[in-house]
Amino acid sequence: MDQPVRKRRHSASSATEVDVLIVGGGPAGLAAALYLGRFRHRVVVVDAGESRAMLIAQSRNCPGFPEGISGPDLLQRLRAQAAEYGATLVQDQASSIEPTVGGFGAETNAGRIVARKVFLATGVVDVVPAIPRLREAIAKGSVRLCPVCDGYEVIDRQVAVIGHEAQALREALFLKQYTQHVTMLARYLPDFSTSTRRVAMEENIAVCDAFKKFVPTDSGYQAVLKDGEMRHFDVIYPAMGCRVRSELALAMGIECCDEGYVVVDKHQRTSVDGVYAIGDLVRTLNQIAVAFGQAAIAATDAHNDFAFGYE
Ligand SMILES: Cc1cc2nc3c(=O)[nH]c(=O)nc-3n(C[C@H](O)[C@H](O)[C@H](O)COP(=O)(O)OP(=O)(O)OC[C@H]3O[C@@H](n4cnc5c(N)ncnc54)[C@H](O)[C@@H]3O)c2cc1C
Repeated sequence: MDQPVRKRRHSASSATEVDVLIVGGGPAGLAAALYLGRFRHRVVVVDAGESRAMLIAQSRNCPGFPEGISGPDLLQRLRAQAAEYGATLVQDQASSIEPTVGGFGAETNAGRIVARKVFLATGVVDVVPAIPRLREAIAKGSVRLCPVCDGYEVIDRQVAVIGHEAQALREALFLKQYTQHVTMLARYLPDFSTSTRRVAMEENIAVCDAFKKFVPTDSGYQAVLKDGEMRHFDVIYPAMGCRVRSELALAMGIECCDEGYVVVDKHQRTSVDGVYAIGDLVRTLNQIAVAFGQAAIAATDAHNDFAFGYE
């Protein structure tokens, strides 16, 4: 993301005028930039550089990469592909976007950008517990954040799920399709409810309340129980949800649901005319393939609106 912003057309106030300002340079924002570039629109992507995809050591469910691909490699390819079709990439945190006559304006460290439409692709941040050497563990695969992404990689492994009641149970049930060795661990919250325990028992999922801490080992983690017993797990899945990065959307008066996800229609349009939302920021399956799909839908809708004034 270190290409300098290219100023294409200048107004009296020397702002960079573009057709679309994309906030967020993860898979969603970059795929939208690619589509819009190929539709021959002027696009700037402003990105703070904290894509969830940066945490992916090797994705094995990203279509088109049978040997797998790391998140950083995928992002690099997406940046190159978007730049190939004219998108300008700016590394910055967009702190505000205000309405202007006929569009929107934003101050960035590459100057003021004025755009006819805005795409929000700011994603989410995973809530994670205080596990020692977390980043390293995610890279090694001994802590995993997304069973849809990598449940296949834990077939027959010893797995612990920690997190909120219903969320932990849902994730544990999902993982049971891959391994018989699933344990739900309670630590940060009160013990699991009777109904959760009953379902877990029926599904042969172990439940462990008296859990104190994790100690990293070469092959995973030892969970230290309150009575001093040690239990080994190859993989830990935190099931603690995420924080939606919807600050910009909220500041723009865009409708968001209670959990913070931006509400969109079938074209990814938000409640504010001219603003789209795509990727994890929208309540959806948090997946790269979904981010790509939503980017394609939104970009095509925006293009048709520019070209013909209809969808
Ligand atoms: C450990 C891990 C493994 C995963 N494995 C897989 C997998 O194998 N397969 C799969 O399909 N999915 C996987 N995912 C999920 C995948 O990473 C996400 O679904 C995907 O990254 C979502 O893309 P996005 O563009 O919506 O958001 P992100 O990739 O999170 O990008 C959002 C970007 O917006 C930027 N941003 C936020 N606010 C601002 C602002 N105000 N100004 C400027 N920039 C801003 C952020 O810095 C970030 O760069 C995994 C996720 C994790 C955490």
